[in-house]
Amino acid sequence: MPRRKRRRWVFLDPPEILESGEVEISLDEMEALRLADVEGLNQHDAARIMGISQPTFHRILREARRKAGMIVIHGFKPKITGGEHIMRMFRCLDCGNEWEEPFGTGRPNNCPKCNSQNFCRMDSGKGMGRGGGRGRGKGMGRRW
Ligand SMILES: [Zn+2]
Repeated sequence: MPRRKRRRWVFLDPPEILESGEVEISLDEMEALRLADVEGLNQHDAARIMGISQPTFHRILREARRKAGMIVIHGFKPKITGGEHIMRMFRCLDCGNEWEEPFGTGRPNNCPKCNSQNFCRMDSGKGMGRGGGRGRGKGMGRRW
């Protein structure tokens, strides 16, 4: 059986699509997309925030946009997988130890150095909105 030739103008069966109809998108791709397209940062700043080189950021972002396009256009569901690049920074408030944990591993229980539970997250990458302020009323009966 000859290998089926792939048509150039149709995007067929890309490997990331799982049988469940989900597209695997990694946390670093999500973060690249968020920084560049949601927050509107330039690639230089976004790469610095993620602690990676700009070419690496560019590569991740390009892949992320392709997957985002597949999600929007084809209606696939994103399946978020671990990121290779994003780390969370923690600092122990008792001994001053700083350490990193990869995303997706949950909050650490204690400082790896002194076992204190008195530590905090150092990076502030999340930028979650405060909620509220969304929507501008019903649009009817505008008042002056
Ligand atoms: Zn400590």
